[in-house]
Amino acid sequence: MRITLQRKSSLNTLYLVELDDLSRVECVFYRGDTLCVSTQVGCSVGCTFCKSGERGLFRNLTPWEIYKQYEILSKELPIRKIAIAGVGEPLHNFNNVKEAVKLFKRRGLKVSLYTTGFPLKVLREALGLPLSGITLSVHSFKNRRRLNLKGDAYALMEVLREELKKLSKRKRKRVSLAYMPLKGINDTEEEVESFIFYAKELKVSITLLRYNPLVEGLEGIDEGEYRELIRRFKGEGIRVILSTRFRRDRVGGCGSLVASFKLGNSQKEGREEEVGGAVGEEGGDHTLWG
Ligand code: SF4
Repeated sequence: MRITLQRKSSLNTLYLVELDDLSRVECVFYRGDTLCVSTQVGCSVGCTFCKSGERGLFRNLTPWEIYKQYEILSKELPIRKIAIAGVGEPLHNFNNVKEAVKLFKRRGLKVSLYTTGFPLKVLREALGLPLSGITLSVHSFKNRRRLNLKGDAYALMEVLREELKKLSKRKRKRVSLAYMPLKGINDTEEEVESFIFYAKELKVSITLLRYNPLVEGLEGIDEGEYRELIRRFKGEGIRVILSTRFRRDRVGGCGSLVASFKLGNSQKEGREEEVGGAVGEEGGDHTLWG
């Protein structure tokens, strides 16, 4: 396993990781202290707004392959936090993710996880892991099919209702519902009200994401609407976690990571720069989740 290519912007550095069977995943260093790692080669969920799942799932990463993304890069980067938010749905490879979390924790790292929350049975176990944060990609209650999100968001809320009761106030505060409003799809008043209702009832935060424009035909809400949503959620006493510029960077931003099986797929797209070669600066403003 080795890092073959990297691509840099003014905010993030994206690394292409080639595995021993020549399949590839990407990981990203951002915010000066955090490494976003991948857990699968591809992803079977296939959310419409995300590049990672567009070719489907090739295979799961082993615990060692998940951990080694950190181990290789820690030699040159000051990594203190791990975001399990790269390519793949962590709950679909949970046993290996669980083992990797143990390896990260042994190194004293803070670990957070991003997931769609399904299968729900696995989510119940994931909520008990020693994580600094767990963000659930809910995005919609009413129009999930258009985003290709699997599973019923109300069933997800029901599981949270049962499981969060068992957690301490401190651990509960680490749970967040992710909402990425897209124009004409999940930006309705009804959707906003559902997020307010459940965040208040469950006493969790909302991670309000800005869309990283990657897919033709999908458009995020504009700046004014985004600010209005922040004001509204805060006015309801809800803690809001905002979409940082690192997550919205075109290099390594939310939904931008890809995976490929065998050499050649990514190169055809002409996306990467050779390690050690000239790296392009991108000032673009516009990343990560499971
Ligand atoms: S957002 Fe996450 S779950 Fe959805 S396709 Fe991308 S990697 Fe898979």
